[in-house]
Amino acid sequence: MAIDLIEIHNLKTYFYQNKGFLSRLFGEGLKTVHAVDDVSLTIKKGRTFGLVGESGCGKSTLGQTIFRLVKPQSGEILFQGRDVLKMDPKTLMEFRQKAQLIFQDQYGCMNPRMTVGKIIAEPLLMREKGKMDKQNLFQEVARLLQAVNLDLDSAAKFPNEFSGGQARRIGVARAIALNPVFIMADEPTSGLDISTAATILNLMQDLQDKLDITYLWVSHNLNQVKYMSDDMAVMYLGKIVEMGLTKDIFNEMAHPYTKALISAVPQVSASLQRETIFLEGEIPSPINPPSGCRFRTRCPQVMKKCKIHEPPLIDLGSGHLCACHLHREN
Ligand code: SF4
Repeated sequence: MAIDLIEIHNLKTYFYQNKGFLSRLFGEGLKTVHAVDDVSLTIKKGRTFGLVGESGCGKSTLGQTIFRLVKPQSGEILFQGRDVLKMDPKTLMEFRQKAQLIFQDQYGCMNPRMTVGKIIAEPLLMREKGKMDKQNLFQEVARLLQAVNLDLDSAAKFPNEFSGGQARRIGVARAIALNPVFIMADEPTSGLDISTAATILNLMQDLQDKLDITYLWVSHNLNQVKYMSDDMAVMYLGKIVEMGLTKDIFNEMAHPYTKALISAVPQVSASLQRETIFLEGEIPSPINPPSGCRFRTRCPQVMKKCKIHEPPLIDLGSGHLCACHLHREN
């Protein structure tokens, strides 16, 4: 049985925005954006956890909070049993070697004036405080380029000489340089055509098998999450509304929001295509989320009590969790 690598308990990440001039004049304070609101989940070692939802649902903020790139209001993030939010600078540095990020905008993450060899070597040099033997460094960069199927010649080139797919490979090479045990990939194939995206997915699966890496796969692309992840959670307006094994959720989706998202996924064969459930209206503002169930303003099955009572996340059986009044705990 897979062991827990990351445990998140009751995490809340809020942002504060200034109100308009008139509100401030009448002494009103700051607006609170409930980006991540009381989220708990577990990521198992050696597996891929997919996190899906429309843009603005809080999935990227949740990932950034794990890396302490944003500060949460409350909650606990345990990595190998140690609370990331309470780590001292030395332990935090060790954590940041074991846990790496791959962002969607790889060009934006690379210094355009540095060669790719230097970009990949940078984390190694930082770890060794600049004291790495040149020959060893060269061999490491060559090994990493080979691991992501790039030529050795790439080391002498600059980022703008690479295609979008190659830039992602460079990002992957840099991410695995320090032998991480955990990688968060935030929309890692966005903007790529289907065949290039497929090669990146296959590369990352190969690396996971070879290096025993655990992934947090953040994406709005449900087909990709279905293909890549073992476990998944669906987020809506800062909350998890459904969570469990990916195969269980795709086979027996329980939450009306998950049903709508999955119904919109294009299928290879027309016979497998579900009838699309169109959601009315826009996703509400996380500054003033609806009372009761946050999805009630768009839910096709809304009931009276949905406005008053917030549905808890309950277990429908075998760890398949859902937050909706249509279901009862198993
Ligand atoms: Fe829809 Fe009510 Fe379920 Fe929310 S709790 S998803 S509004 S039925």
